[in-house]
Amino acid sequence: MPYQQRRLFLITDENVYFHYKNHLKDTLKDFTVDYTIIQAGEASKTLDNYMKIAQSLLSKHIQRKDIIIAFGGGVVGDLAGFIAATILRGVDFIQVPTTLLAMVDSSIGSKVGVDTIHGKNLMGAFKHPLSVIIDPMYLNTLPEKEYQNGMAEVIKACFIQDASLFEAIQHNDTLTLIKKAIQVKKDIVQIDPFERHERMFLNFGHTFAHAIEVYSNYQIPHGYAVAMGMDIAIRLGIYFNITNKTLLDKLHQLYSYYQLPKYAGNLQELVPFLNQDKKSIGDRINFIFIEAIGKPIIKPIDKEVFYDIPSF
Ligand code: ADP
Ligand code: ZN
Repeated sequence: MPYQQRRLFLITDENVYFHYKNHLKDTLKDFTVDYTIIQAGEASKTLDNYMKIAQSLLSKHIQRKDIIIAFGGGVVGDLAGFIAATILRGVDFIQVPTTLLAMVDSSIGSKVGVDTIHGKNLMGAFKHPLSVIIDPMYLNTLPEKEYQNGMAEVIKACFIQDASLFEAIQHNDTLTLIKKAIQVKKDIVQIDPFERHERMFLNFGHTFAHAIEVYSNYQIPHGYAVAMGMDIAIRLGIYFNITNKTLLDKLHQLYSYYQLPKYAGNLQELVPFLNQDKKSIGDRINFIFIEAIGKPIIKPIDKEVFYDIPSF
């Protein structure tokens, strides 16, 4: 069916809309577009907002042939994607990520969802988008802090899969970085779409990152928490004689360049928050270690073990 006969329901947030209102109106001038503008920030990724927006789209008689477009960062993508996955049992969905984090991570792999009082992303679906349109031009308006946030996931991609990414990171070659980091995620997700084995590698740094996010009551942004979580994971790997010692220097070199935080607190105080990770099994955690760049391994670790590790 010609695209012009399909209504577009574009969901974005107030900041992105502010920057790209004219660009959107201009680009989509040949289409019938309905705009939904949400407040910026993770606090918008709620079931409440999901209900409100879904009801609003239904009241506007959205049809299955129409298209929902997520134009924004991960918050918009996850929320709009969950609506697209469920409304009328699914309508087509296009992602246009506008943050580095969303470009290299959340827009790839078809996971969509919302947060609940029990934790982040606990309600959701796998929704394959019709397409994901990535244009680094959108990064020109992205605040520095959000860029750093995304860089943490790029560094993660480098450590789990692609040593050549390290070069691109050092040269701050954004386009190559984005392409390579997407390729890493795409390759892994294609092998293991439903997170049975390889996809867990993408969780490198995330076990403690989730604990840090919960512990800080989500005051620490995801990318920063992932940076701290990778720092912990590398140091634990060295402690357990799994990780090559040179990796910690490499990681810290990148952190000083991109101003990402190491973990400066106490490991033990995070342990009670570890089991909030939905991927944990009983008291054992599937922990991702890195042996060398591009060589991740999964090892089940008993949570109690973390209490016995001297401060590092
Ligand atoms: P993430 O993609 O990291 O999950 P969000 O969707 O919350 O995060 O986006 C992070 C912040 O960046 C939000 O305040 C959002 O409004 C803002 N933002 C997203 N994309 C852009 C952009 N291209 N230019 C300026 N601000 C943006
Ligand atoms: Zn992440």
